[in-house]
Amino acid sequence: MKCKAIHKKLIFFLENDLPENEMEEIKLHLAGCHECADFAEYMRKTLKVLNQERKPDVNPFFYTRVKARLENQTIKEIATPLWARILQPAVFTLLLLAGVYAGIKIGQPANNIQETYYAEQEIFPYLYEMAAEPIETFLME
Ligand SMILES: [Zn+2]
Repeated sequence: MKCKAIHKKLIFFLENDLPENEMEEIKLHLAGCHECADFAEYMRKTLKVLNQERKPDVNPFFYTRVKARLENQTIKEIATPLWARILQPAVFTLLLLAGVYAGIKIGQPANNIQETYYAEQEIFPYLYEMAAEPIETFLME
């Protein structure tokens, strides 16, 4: 393999994303080629910085919301018996509230309790309305 071809594949090599024989080939080339070895080292450092910026704990509020959404999807995927279909809006609401509540708690400094209180008052009645509607529809049928 030529140096140019090595350079093109280096990023996949560093991510361990190549077939085994190509991984070996590049490893061998790097051992014998200073230019490519230097370039590989430079790329490894760059990738390390990028990976550090990608960590989920950089934005806890976003992470909480994604997690809450995943949990909701898991519940929807389970085959639902009749009682579960009635309970589902309530469970959904609880998960949503937990997500919102955790998000508010994490997202705000501790000395901002007053504002948190108002935010919750605005959100909660709206959520209860959303949860109540499917149950009423079900009982009317
Ligand atoms: Zn080379």
